[in-house]
Order: sequence, then C-alpha cells, then structure tokens
Amino acid sequence: MEFSQEKAVSGILEKSLSTSMNHTYFLEYAAKLALRNVEEGKGGPFGAVIVKNGEILAEGANSVTRLADPTAHAEVMAIRAACEVLGTFQLTGLTLYSSCEPCPMCLGAIYWARPEALYFAAGKEDASAVGFDDSFIYDEIAVGLDKRTLPTTQIHVPSELHAFERWQRTQQKEAY
Ligand SMILES: [Zn+2]
Repeated sequence: MEFSQEKAVSGILEKSLSTSMNHTYFLEYAAKLALRNVEEGKGGPFGAVIVKNGEILAEGANSVTRLADPTAHAEVMAIRAACEVLGTFQLTGLTLYSSCEPCPMCLGAIYWARPEALYFAAGKEDASAVGFDDSFIYDEIAVGLDKRTLPTTQIHVPSELHAFERWQRTQQKEAY
C-alpha cells in the first residue's frame, strides 16, 4: 500500500518534471527560431510555436519587413500556420509558446484563437530594451478616445447596425 502510494507520488512528480522540461524545450525552440530569423535577415527577433499533444504543430517567426505586413508578428504567423494545418479557426486544446511576451495585438489574436495555455520566455521589458516598445499600446487602450495619440472618432451613420441585425436573423451562420 505504502509502496503504491509512493509510486503514485513519484509518478506525479515525474509528470510535472517532464511537463516543465517540455515547456523549457518549446520555449528554447521558439527562442532559437527568433535567433535564426535575425541571423538569416528575415525579420525581427521573435519566434513562436504551437504545440498539440506534446508535438510542434506549427511555428512562426516575425515577418513584418519580409512580407511588408505590420501584423506578421511571430505569434500571428504561428496561429495562421496552425489554423491552416487544422483547417479551423480555433486552437482548442493547443498550447502557444512565444520567445517573448506577446504585444497587445498578438495577445488579442491569441485570445481569439482560444488555445489552452500561453507560455513566453523574455519579458516585454527585454523587447523594449532593444527597440520594440509596445507599452504605448497598452497605455492607449487604457485612456479615453479623446486622449489617444491616434486621432480616433466615433461618428454614427444610418446603416451602422444593419449588418448586426442581419447577422442575428441569419439561421445558418458559423458562430465563432
Ligand atoms: Zn505581436
């Protein structure tokens, strides 16, 4: 009885140890993607991987300059690649590993993709120290429209709710 309890406890410890080793492995993998991206001149120093059942399903590296796409951050690239492989727009049950703390855009994309969990290595302060400062976006979100650096104005128009009303009446729609 005692023996089996000990065995059960050591099993739990082994499982949590191997899980945390997996986290390190995938974060190291993402960090190496980021480094390779810089070394090969393909973009910014960011990488991300999406893991399903302990295996890498998709990966992404920052491709903003290469693709002339300001949304081509590593996490977004990884989400796009994973969704293409899966043929769906949800990452249910999957885990996203990023070499760095996601910016507000990527964080939003990650929430929309609905993975099971997010892990990141470097902090946003580390990114800021080498010129990738996204703190101003967090600041922008927190202040009112009239205080934002991007002039932002709401103007009501007659048709503004028509698409919403049509959406509500539509029977066959794919909810997300
Ligand atoms: Zn981002």
